[in-house]
Amino acid sequence: MDENLLSLSALQHYAYCPRQFALIHTEQVWADNFFTAQGNVLHERVDSGLPEQRGNVRSERAVEVASVAHGIKGKMDLLEIEALPDGTKRYFPVEYKRGKPKLADWDRIQLCAQALCLEDMHGVPVTEGAIWYWEVRRREPVAIDSVLRQATVNVIADARALLLSQKTPPPTLNKSLCKACSLHDLCMPDALRADKSESYVSSMLTGQS
Ligand code: SF4
Repeated sequence: MDENLLSLSALQHYAYCPRQFALIHTEQVWADNFFTAQGNVLHERVDSGLPEQRGNVRSERAVEVASVAHGIKGKMDLLEIEALPDGTKRYFPVEYKRGKPKLADWDRIQLCAQALCLEDMHGVPVTEGAIWYWEVRRREPVAIDSVLRQATVNVIADARALLLSQKTPPPTLNKSLCKACSLHDLCMPDALRADKSESYVSSMLTGQS
């Protein structure tokens, strides 16, 4: 697969926090915390399953996908392929997540990117998928609609631009994201925010910008 393609997980990192994306993909730092370690165990379990056939639906795990048109690639947790009576196939991506359903879009963007890959590879529309959340043991249906598609295309473009710039943005203003972030100790968001406000106060006092 083309090494220049952005990974699906990188899109999720960018959608979560552009600084997290830059720390991982530009500065190449990584740290496991409790949340990522638990997520890795979940994905190992999901990926180790064998393909299954139930009626007219085949379930495949750890499926490699890519879209050259969108410049993305990655591995899907689960792909359900339904054989329809007219001889066509319906592709339904399922992503497994450790936590619970979120209002923010970062999990859905990763799923939508998988749908874009499937569309590119198989030439059929993918209009729905689902995210299975471990904490609540529930499958959340996700419509791959025009709003989510546009958000995903924007994230792909913005993430690629940030990668090319080789810059690392300042910490997110959403401090609740930092609490669950695997890079919290390496990123030191509070220290950087404090430093920024100190520089701001000092620039106000000295009249420099
Ligand atoms: S700690 Fe906060 S600012 Fe730093 S990478 Fe994580 S989410 Fe972003």
